[in-house]
Amino acid sequence: MNAWIGKTVLLMGLIVFVAIRAPYERRSKETKITESRRGAQETTLMVLMGIGCFVFPLIFIFSPLLSFANYRLHPVAFLGGIVCLIFGLWFFHRSHVDLGTNWSISLELREHHQLVTSGAYKSIRHPMYSAIFIYALAQALLLPNWIAGPCCFATFTLMFAFRLRPEEQMMLERFGPEYEDYAERTKRLIPGIW
Ligand code: SAH
Repeated sequence: MNAWIGKTVLLMGLIVFVAIRAPYERRSKETKITESRRGAQETTLMVLMGIGCFVFPLIFIFSPLLSFANYRLHPVAFLGGIVCLIFGLWFFHRSHVDLGTNWSISLELREHHQLVTSGAYKSIRHPMYSAIFIYALAQALLLPNWIAGPCCFATFTLMFAFRLRPEEQMMLERFGPEYEDYAERTKRLIPGIW
């Protein structure tokens, strides 16, 4: 298959990704931060993720700079990519709706912060991160390039690995036994598994 089909679908997905998040970014600016644990490490990881999920895919889509790492797009990868993209974006939207004004782009607690335990948060503690992993998988399947394809998955895995513990620790310190109970009856990313 011609690469432009995969590029076009991913570009549409990228636009939807940004559109889903935009109103929450705007609203989060209006909700006061009461505690921030965003350090230099967290900022560096967020920049890396931006490079993996936005910069490299856009370079691949709009320029020939990464063409030395191209391969042919397989129809099965393309179809799998579309399925992952639709499901990932739907779940990304769902988790934003459920988190509402409690959402932050980084490790932050907000005024009147509430522990969300229903909807997408009922059986897993990190549905938004699950959604981003599924989206990253879609990128890997839709972009037939050894760099632009897997780079979102790689950089997000790195960010997730460093963020998981501090985030759970922050929630535990803020919500105490309520979070302990919640953690006991839920998994992290995959319902019933992990
Ligand atoms: N890790 C979650 C949320 C990502 S947004 C997910 O993947 O769905 C990151 C912010 O959400 C954190 O800084 C924390 O303040 C907030 N948060 C995480 N889990 C939460 C929950 N269950 N209820 C309310 N806020 C939560």
